[in-house]
Amino acid sequence: MRRLPITPVRERHGGSRAELEAELAQEGDPEIGYYHSYEITGAVNGPGVRFTLFLSGCPLRCQYCENPDTWTMGDGRRVTTGRMVDEIAKYAAFVTTAHGGITVSGGEPMLQIRFLEALLRRCRHDLGLHTAVDTSGFLGDRATDEFLDLVDLFLLDIKSGDPDTYRLVTSADLAPTLRFARRLSDRGNRMWVRFVLVPGLTDAPENVEAVAAFVATLDGVDRVEVLPFHHLGAGKWAELGLPYQLGAHAPPSQELVERVEDRFRSHGLTVL
Ligand code: SF4
Repeated sequence: MRRLPITPVRERHGGSRAELEAELAQEGDPEIGYYHSYEITGAVNGPGVRFTLFLSGCPLRCQYCENPDTWTMGDGRRVTTGRMVDEIAKYAAFVTTAHGGITVSGGEPMLQIRFLEALLRRCRHDLGLHTAVDTSGFLGDRATDEFLDLVDLFLLDIKSGDPDTYRLVTSADLAPTLRFARRLSDRGNRMWVRFVLVPGLTDAPENVEAVAAFVATLDGVDRVEVLPFHHLGAGKWAELGLPYQLGAHAPPSQELVERVEDRFRSHGLTVL
């Protein structure tokens, strides 16, 4: 997930169950969505050049989040499906020529799954775009099969293989993500799996092994990406008055990154 320019936060919340349910209840009209920003990206959010749209709202609270200003759906800019499709259409020929498409990221894009589904349907059917969704999978139970059929590629973050570590990293349960990954595998969806490597938090050999062993049982995984943790998001936490807990954690050494990548490769997975 890329670091985005900061936007004002109207209300900050801690991601409690009640607050999440309130956000899910707001999400009703497939023609209205809330987004943080969009940009043209290359080679980081799916194949080719991508129109990458960052939707607002996320139920997780990852310690290393680069974009905590996307956490609250209502802090985003309000837009209609038609207007966003018009904007995307301006870039459709360019990204298609560059073997890319649209990637919807966040925040957690499946928080606004009705808007997301309506948008991707039009991107695919009206604009002929390749579609990708960058997700933690935590809200995967909200996805219908019709929605999953609209997504050519999932960029799926599996942030830990150990439930306790997952909760420490995200403040949420691991099980929904694993359930969603299994469902994608069973129905033939394509995936790129991402794992953020944080020394002293996610790098325990047994944690890495748990992720690798699970991913190796999935069908449809075209690649695994080990993403080295960094401090680029720390400034946003400070600007938002949020307690950043990873200040003492150094980014991983190249040697550690390679060791973790080799652990995934040892399970027959392609690591890029
Ligand atoms: S899933 Fe985690 S890293 Fe991604 S936006 Fe939510 S809190 Fe940030």
